[in-house]
Amino acid sequence: MILTQCAVCATDLGLTLGKKCGRCSTRYCGPECQKKHWEEGGHDKLCKKIKKAGGAEQYNANQKYAEAVAVAAEKCAEDTKGQTCYICTQALHWKTKEGLVRGCSCRGTAGVAHVSCLVEQAKILVAEAEENNLGHDAFNARWRRWCSCSLCEQEYHGVVKCALGWACWKTYLGRPETDEVQGMAMSLLGSGLFFAYNYEDALLVYEAILSMLRRVGPSEEQLLVVQSHLASTYRALGRNEEALQMDRDIYSGRLRLNGEGNGHTLLAANNYASGLVDLRRLEEAKSVLRKMIPVARRVFGDTGRLTLTMRKIYARALYEDAGATLDDLREAVTTLVETERIVRRVMGGAHPTTTAHEAALQEARAVLAARETPPTSNNA
Ligand SMILES: [Zn+2]
Ligand SMILES: [Zn+2]
Ligand SMILES: [Zn+2]
Ligand SMILES: [Zn+2]
Repeated sequence: MILTQCAVCATDLGLTLGKKCGRCSTRYCGPECQKKHWEEGGHDKLCKKIKKAGGAEQYNANQKYAEAVAVAAEKCAEDTKGQTCYICTQALHWKTKEGLVRGCSCRGTAGVAHVSCLVEQAKILVAEAEENNLGHDAFNARWRRWCSCSLCEQEYHGVVKCALGWACWKTYLGRPETDEVQGMAMSLLGSGLFFAYNYEDALLVYEAILSMLRRVGPSEEQLLVVQSHLASTYRALGRNEEALQMDRDIYSGRLRLNGEGNGHTLLAANNYASGLVDLRRLEEAKSVLRKMIPVARRVFGDTGRLTLTMRKIYARALYEDAGATLDDLREAVTTLVETERIVRRVMGGAHPTTTAHEAALQEARAVLAARETPPTSNNA
């Protein structure tokens, strides 16, 4: 995680509050914790070393990066056995002695590299774009090297994504808050942690981004993007009420900013409705979906993935309702018969989306059958 807490008692300090060690900038909630850390926490021995590394945040990021590289190399050892780095052509990195990784969609011998070499490549490309003022598009194309492979163009995943997240944060953490790059680096770290299933730390990072944005004055778009990361993280942590609140804010924010016929808005409606169904708030879910499904059909057509998903959620809201009428249940079944047929045609029978529609259809049919057959008619 990034350092948002007192180094001793873990009181939340955000990105700026608290009392700093005058030499190394380690932060504490107050003088008592600072004194304790020096006398009992070993800070007297580490302080100089942390200062030399560039301060507490940098020291922490360097350490986390080294750990993440070791984890990634170990996890990839089997996959990269006997291969060499496509950037430096060596098996062992000349300086760090780290092993090889691969975390994209490259196959065979392609795409094997050292995290350090991927980092060096991204750093140099981004620096060139900044020095030569290459403009927004060129900058973004180069920035992509922090998160996707230059050979297959697919996003890195898992442990490799996490190591690159720490690398990116450690490279740009010294930038001022007002420099967009600092926020972009933090955001990359957040998603690296998230996709390495480290949700607690991802949450701290996203919360830090949100408070940073609030200080510098965010655009509505930036705010909505961070909120959607926060919503996913809350959900991953099982904090469903908070996720739902966030989803509701995102949905109304998207309606305001982009209007109802926009892809972001429809996705937000879908997420909000899905959260409502999970929390058994079925009437509210139905009302959102009744409003937005016709919009989705208009924008994406009847075969659009989001159209189909929203219709499936609507059917679920119908048949999972204990107070559903027979007509509701029949509508749920008719809907799912139709969506299942379309999904099967578009994505094939083995696709997980098809399986999900199939399962929902079976459930809906079972509920309807149970209702149509009263328990007393067993002897018929
Ligand atoms: Zn403290
Ligand atoms: Zn210190
Ligand atoms: Zn290399
Ligand atoms: Zn690749």
